[in-house]
Amino acid sequence: MNSNAVIAIHGGAGTILRASMSASAEAEYHAALHAVLSAGQRVLAEGGSALDAVSEAVRLLEDCPLFNAGRGAVYTAAGTHELDAAIMDGSTLEAGAICCVKRVRNPVLAARRVLEASEHVLFTGEGAEAFAAAQGLEFVEPEYFHTEARHRQWLLARGQQRAMLDHDGATLAATPPSNDDNPTPHEPIDPNRKFGTVGAVALDRHGHVAAATSTGGVTNKQVGRVGDTPLIGAGCYADDATCAVSTTGSGEMFIRMVAAYDVAAQMAYRDVSLEEAAHDVVMNRLPKIDGRGGLVAVDARGNFTLPFNTEGMYRGFARLGETPVTAIYR
Ligand code: ASP
Repeated sequence: MNSNAVIAIHGGAGTILRASMSASAEAEYHAALHAVLSAGQRVLAEGGSALDAVSEAVRLLEDCPLFNAGRGAVYTAAGTHELDAAIMDGSTLEAGAICCVKRVRNPVLAARRVLEASEHVLFTGEGAEAFAAAQGLEFVEPEYFHTEARHRQWLLARGQQRAMLDHDGATLAATPPSNDDNPTPHEPIDPNRKFGTVGAVALDRHGHVAAATSTGGVTNKQVGRVGDTPLIGAGCYADDATCAVSTTGSGEMFIRMVAAYDVAAQMAYRDVSLEEAAHDVVMNRLPKIDGRGGLVAVDARGNFTLPFNTEGMYRGFARLGETPVTAIYR
């Protein structure tokens, strides 16, 4: 039995500034992250697999309206929600993913069913929903995903006619505009500063790793746009031989860098540590193409790392038998 079992999670990265966050909002985020880590820890303590731990952690993060995944997902340019998720098992290299679903309550559970019950890896749109329905997954009306804060964020982005990533705008969006149809932002919104997305990586007591990632994407994204989250190797990757990785950030850049797999590849081919590989991807390689965000990663020896190149990243980790640690800022 591996005594280094650990789970690490993220709830998105971006311009998350202490100065613009109220004490009560901060406390809410810490409490949410703590509860998710405790749940993941329980799964691992009971001998559950890393795959079970990351599915459960991401399911809970999807259900929490504070994060841009499941309930609380951002809006597309058409005022709808399109959700993406992926999951990978490091012990078998099996993976499942779905993208552009509109009514599946927990996209990560659909991704998990793809991993377990399909010969395919990635389903999109209608096909993904048909598969999820056939698997008996829970469906909800699109309004289920709505939150006032995300809606305001969308109105701001739409007013500026741009796609924007999540989270740094959270403070801005939390301030109700005087008129919802014609919102007046208090400061210009930099489209490169807002990332949402949730994810988890874990090492279980049997020595196996797994990763899962789920997102609503970026605010005001074009209908049909797919980011890194559901792409195995870009936003999610797991291999017992190297590591498990879940990312958050400017998806297009993470796709172009094949970011999650690059951490594993550097460990395999350059023979560097998890920390060194992850640091290189987040701090050196992604910034070269203006890639902003971060990741959480764990290896089969129980090392873990949570690097990000933005002002903040909602994050936390928990080893078995220890109190979960949560953090927001640098
Ligand atoms: N990476 C996600 C995407 O591009 C966004 C995020 O992490 O907030 O869809």
